[in-house]
Amino acid sequence: MRIAVIGAGMGGLSAAAALAKLGHEVTVLEAHNLPGGCAQTFLQRGCRFDAGATLAGGFNRGGPMALLEEATGARFNTRQADIAMAVHLPGEAPVLRYGDGRWAQERLRAFGPQAERFWHWQESRADLLWAFATHLAPWPPQRPSDLLMLLADAARLLAARSHVGLSLSLAREAVSALGRYLPQGNESLRMFIDAQLLISAQCQSDRANALYGACALDLPRREVRHVAGGIGALAFELSRTLTAHGGRVIFRSRAHRIVVERGRAMAVETAMGRLEADAIIANLTPPSLARLLGEHAPKELAVPPSEMEFGAFTVYAAVESACDDRCLHHQIVLRRPLSEGNSLFASLSPSWDESRAPRGLRALTLSTHTRLEPWLKLRDHEPVYEERKASLAAQLLESAKAALPGVIRDVAFSLAGTPSTFRDFTLRAGGWVGGRAQTSLRVGMAPRVMPGLWLVGDSIFPGQSVAATALGGMRVARQLHGDYSSSLSVSRSNWSMSPISSSISRSMP
Ligand SMILES: Cc1cc2nc3c(=O)[nH]c(=O)nc-3n(C[C@H](O)[C@H](O)[C@H](O)COP(=O)(O)OP(=O)(O)OC[C@H]3O[C@@H](n4cnc5c(N)ncnc54)[C@H](O)[C@@H]3O)c2cc1C
Repeated sequence: MRIAVIGAGMGGLSAAAALAKLGHEVTVLEAHNLPGGCAQTFLQRGCRFDAGATLAGGFNRGGPMALLEEATGARFNTRQADIAMAVHLPGEAPVLRYGDGRWAQERLRAFGPQAERFWHWQESRADLLWAFATHLAPWPPQRPSDLLMLLADAARLLAARSHVGLSLSLAREAVSALGRYLPQGNESLRMFIDAQLLISAQCQSDRANALYGACALDLPRREVRHVAGGIGALAFELSRTLTAHGGRVIFRSRAHRIVVERGRAMAVETAMGRLEADAIIANLTPPSLARLLGEHAPKELAVPPSEMEFGAFTVYAAVESACDDRCLHHQIVLRRPLSEGNSLFASLSPSWDESRAPRGLRALTLSTHTRLEPWLKLRDHEPVYEERKASLAAQLLESAKAALPGVIRDVAFSLAGTPSTFRDFTLRAGGWVGGRAQTSLRVGMAPRVMPGLWLVGDSIFPGQSVAATALGGMRVARQLHGDYSSSLSVSRSNWSMSPISSSISRSMP
């Protein structure tokens, strides 16, 4: 098939590289001059700063990033993190999120024995659901055949545990909030979980779906790695792999319109011309995709404004640091409000990665949640906008310095990014990042938008994060290829011999 992919974010590139490896003719159109979208790394005065995402997880055997390597042939240059991240709660010793057996002792120290039941529940659900997500059954099901695959997968996974009670619990948890499973009266635990869910599920324990939340909290156990060259090197490697399989990425090539004829997506128009395709994959937010479809946009692409409230405010700083490489990611929860939240995330480049900063300096990225509307309104009032930006950037830097003495010493230079910056550099509608709050398992859009048109990225299952969007992209590649193969009467037994499926069988419990 001739496949056109709009956007070289993690979702788009993962789908593109997997499809190119399967033999399809793939062209990626990217508006920017760099790949990676929210997971890109940009160069500024000798420093390579991660623009949005900084922490890469899912490299464990059978995990999304390992599957991505198998499905595409990419080889990511990474080193395992000793401690995935440290979470700093006000007035308490940092909680160190180890990815190995040390986590059991650490959580006992930090949250006491009464929290153990919760942690056992969280880990067992995460193990089950990651296995389910890395399998290929489409979610949410859109066709009878999707439903059959889904039921077969669910039956296989549950049969491995042969537990009727488990099925009933899962049915209840699928429609509950995670807060229901937290022990009462353990405020440190609740604060910790809320902070972690905010960055992984875009909402807190009172709203986050229990099963989604259990998986999202599990990222530190799914092998966190530091990527040489910054997180954007993942996208560069996928672009390289895609090219090696005969595909291409055309940078500075913005899609303006998707041509729909008789209910089928047929071509993508850019300023350079028209690209005809048998299938189009959009690595876009639903509102951005709706804009390209114009009158042909299905109503499912409309996202209520109340769900597109938050974006990110970021600071990129070249700093002197006395930090070793054991723990490079820190989530800091503050006593006082910061912008509209009360936490920030700080990530430092590893000392071993000399490509990230000139000698003696490290590249630091700080980020916090912020409401979109005030920034977008201020954009036309330059002095006020710049003043607010400078003031929040200073607050972020001071808070990080105070919470991490020694880790951040002198600042050589810094720059800041607002939701307007994200809007301009990723073309995400209104600078909205992170996708929808994961309050229900049905929040994710179905990836088949209309005949010939598919959606990837953080708006489809399993949602946001580098690992999740990579997995979503691979799942779509598989479904698209599966549809194509079945139209050629290729049997499912042939299909399941492919690299993705063989590694999944190995990872199945
Ligand atoms: C501040 C911040 C911190 C984060 N931290 C982490 C983290 O630590 N770990 C983690 O795993 N995840 C993190 N995330 C989330 C993660 O970055 C995203 O979930 C993921 O990168 C989104 O990928 P995507 O596939 O949806 O594509 P996007 O990143 O949205 O990329 C879409 C691409 O499409 C291009 N494009 C858009 N419109 C067009 C058009 N019309 N024509 C051509 N090209 C177009 C854009 O230029 C862009 O390159 C963070 C996100 C942010 C914003």
